[in-house]
Amino acid sequence: MTAESQLRDDIVEVGRRMYARGYTASNDGNISVRLGFDRLLMTPKSVCKGFMMPDMMCITDLDGRKLQGDRDPSSEMLMHLEVYRQRPDVQAVVHAHPPTATGFAVAGIPLDRAVLAEVLTTLGSIPIAEYATPSTKELPAAVRKYIKAHDGMLLANHGALTVGADLFAAYYKMETVEHFAKISLVARLLGGENLISRAEVLRLQGLRGTYGIKAPAPICADDETPPSGDPALCQVVQAPEGGGSRLVPAGSEDAEIRLTYRQLSELIEDAIRNLR
Ligand SMILES: [Zn+2]
Repeated sequence: MTAESQLRDDIVEVGRRMYARGYTASNDGNISVRLGFDRLLMTPKSVCKGFMMPDMMCITDLDGRKLQGDRDPSSEMLMHLEVYRQRPDVQAVVHAHPPTATGFAVAGIPLDRAVLAEVLTTLGSIPIAEYATPSTKELPAAVRKYIKAHDGMLLANHGALTVGADLFAAYYKMETVEHFAKISLVARLLGGENLISRAEVLRLQGLRGTYGIKAPAPICADDETPPSGDPALCQVVQAPEGGGSRLVPAGSEDAEIRLTYRQLSELIEDAIRNLR
């Protein structure tokens, strides 16, 4: 089997997994992979990613010219081209609409809190690229701001984008983004996350090499921003000073006050008495 036919099969497999896991509905999502440095193998426009065949894929150059294929390339081709232009190290790009991560993208909440060591060492911060009309030149412009320093990002009111050193690496990052979004949602429903402290984040960052992980950019400490807080140069993660603790409740600086119903009633009665 040639390298190209293997990659066609791999795109079909990743498409099936994305559809089976509910990351895409109907014809949503798109996948591409480099064929050498300046040619791309890409999913075609208007097909369900769960039911693709290897011969459906298009081959384009890095300017988006179709070189081979019966169908037209993905409607989000411009976004893929922008990633490959900005990141010579990237071999594959995956775009989907996984529902929990996309919920965060719709709510305008980035996945940038220091919560899980695995996420910090593989992806770091997951920012939100600003809203852009899908399939227009606005979308590559929005992605450009973050893609040099991030392997995964949310797209405001749209979905998520991940990239990797091979197709499965890019796909697994999409799984990580959605998994992290689910865990963050559950933690917030249960009263909020404990965050990993700044010192522990820096320690984990130092261990990235030990785990064999090549992260796209360092995590900036607050006192380095700006100019290295530029999203093109480094990642910004919400990690509070722990004061010796490695875990810190989120929002502990202005922590909410919890009262029992009886305490609340007493406070209200006092207030009413004082009004008289
Ligand atoms: Zn999309």
